[in-house]
Amino acid sequence: MQLLMDNALFILIRGGDMSSAVVIGGGIAGIYSAILLKKRYESVFLIEKEQELGGLLRSFHNEGNDWFDYGTHFIAETNIKDIDEVIVDKSWTKGWRKFDSEKVGNFFNGVLNEGEAFVDAKGIGANYYRGLNEFLEKTYINDTYTDSEDQLENTFGQTFTQEIFKPSLCKIFCVDSLAELVAGANLLFGMKRIKVLNSKASKLIKTLPTYDAKMSYHADYSPSKGYRTHFYPKVGGVGVWVDQMRIKLDALGVTVLCGRSVKKIGHKGRVINRIVMDNDEVIDCDNLVWTIPLVFLFRAAGIECSTVGPRLLNTTLLHFTFDSKPLSDDHYFYCYDPSFLPFRVTLYSNLQPEVSQSSGRHRVTVEVLSSGVLDAEKTCAVVIMDLIKMKVIPSNSKVLYQKIMSIPNGFPVMDHSYAKSFEFQSHLAINSFKNLSLQGKNNTRDWFMADVLKSIYHEFGR
Ligand SMILES: Cc1cc2nc3c(=O)[nH]c(=O)nc-3n(C[C@H](O)[C@H](O)[C@H](O)COP(=O)(O)OP(=O)(O)OC[C@H]3O[C@@H](n4cnc5c(N)ncnc54)[C@H](O)[C@@H]3O)c2cc1C
Repeated sequence: MQLLMDNALFILIRGGDMSSAVVIGGGIAGIYSAILLKKRYESVFLIEKEQELGGLLRSFHNEGNDWFDYGTHFIAETNIKDIDEVIVDKSWTKGWRKFDSEKVGNFFNGVLNEGEAFVDAKGIGANYYRGLNEFLEKTYINDTYTDSEDQLENTFGQTFTQEIFKPSLCKIFCVDSLAELVAGANLLFGMKRIKVLNSKASKLIKTLPTYDAKMSYHADYSPSKGYRTHFYPKVGGVGVWVDQMRIKLDALGVTVLCGRSVKKIGHKGRVINRIVMDNDEVIDCDNLVWTIPLVFLFRAAGIECSTVGPRLLNTTLLHFTFDSKPLSDDHYFYCYDPSFLPFRVTLYSNLQPEVSQSSGRHRVTVEVLSSGVLDAEKTCAVVIMDLIKMKVIPSNSKVLYQKIMSIPNGFPVMDHSYAKSFEFQSHLAINSFKNLSLQGKNNTRDWFMADVLKSIYHEFGR
């Protein structure tokens, strides 16, 4: 059957009289949306520009069978039964290692604090007691701060803000001052709380909600252990999860179209009715779910959008295999110290100890954030030296393998123009179309996987 549309001849291949939903972007947001939508629509199409699904949950391996992940490592329960039954399906998690919680550390002021997700304020040295006094005096928390500096100083006090948050967040977001960032930017990178006092005192003071919100427990007491089980495959990378989801999508009858993107969005007024792909195939569409940046939607729908999108940081992934076991037990740790290049370091030997023991190969992925593309060779050399100086790998470690990758549109810089363009673009998209849903990390306030899943469940799952 053929269809004439805007003077071009397209072949109508999909949809027809059946109710049909189209999902753009095959990351976790697109995959989960497609699964839920299949309960409501006869036909569901999932369109992904790469040759395989998964987005930031993909993995790859080298010739030595060393597996590395691109972004997220763990698949974690959300503790919402309906979501977990789909995402953490018990029929295949048997073959996965289970963790009561992630073992996350942080590197700050020259020290690796193993198993401590949050920065220990004592690490600032001489000004700690002045900072503690200010911290305890800040008892009022509101949600109308003008920027990060305002928010953090009024929550954690001036000393801790200037000596802990300023160097850490300016390093991560590649900005010069906290005032450039919107309030809440600290939440994206494990800096929701800090560690002060000792374990007993923290436990007691955390019974008060104001302090509970900004003060962390110490590693020896963590009531959140076992609260959200985390999973990692015994063999392979987190991409094994994507393979499982692909089986699920196929079994449900979702049509997965990889290596495809959207060329044109056809609409009658505010109702989207068809999608034209880059190979000129047409899909009838009753509901469109968009998980990729909105700039592509405006372009395909012929909508003029005067704002530019958010500034995105380049994420450089450096994958290494060393001949020696890492010196830390952490699954991964954040590096907030501006004198060191890494932002996050993942130690696969602690995720899959059996694999490392039997092969004698120890894999490490280092993420580096920057505003531009980095020189591969120089960055590799600096990062290896950093890992040695941080006492993460022994100084005599041999590099058996190294690969550097660049993810151009990794993390958004959460500055004021980001907030403005985000609001503007979301409103423009939603006001333009009635049958459009925006999901995923690109189009919502959700960044972490669990939050992305919960929003989709609230929209399509009930
Ligand atoms: C480096 C990094 C590390 C992270 N670590 C963690 C973590 O440890 N824990 C956690 O909870 N979250 C983490 N996150 C966030 C997590 O990755 C996101 O929550 C999750 O990936 C969101 O899924 P998504 O589907 O919205 O986006 P993505 O995973 O980015 O998927 C988007 C998909 O759309 C596809 N696409 C893009 N353009 C087009 C197009 N034009 N047409 C069709 N398809 C297109 C992409 O190829 C991709 O497959 C991390 C993010 C990054 C960048």
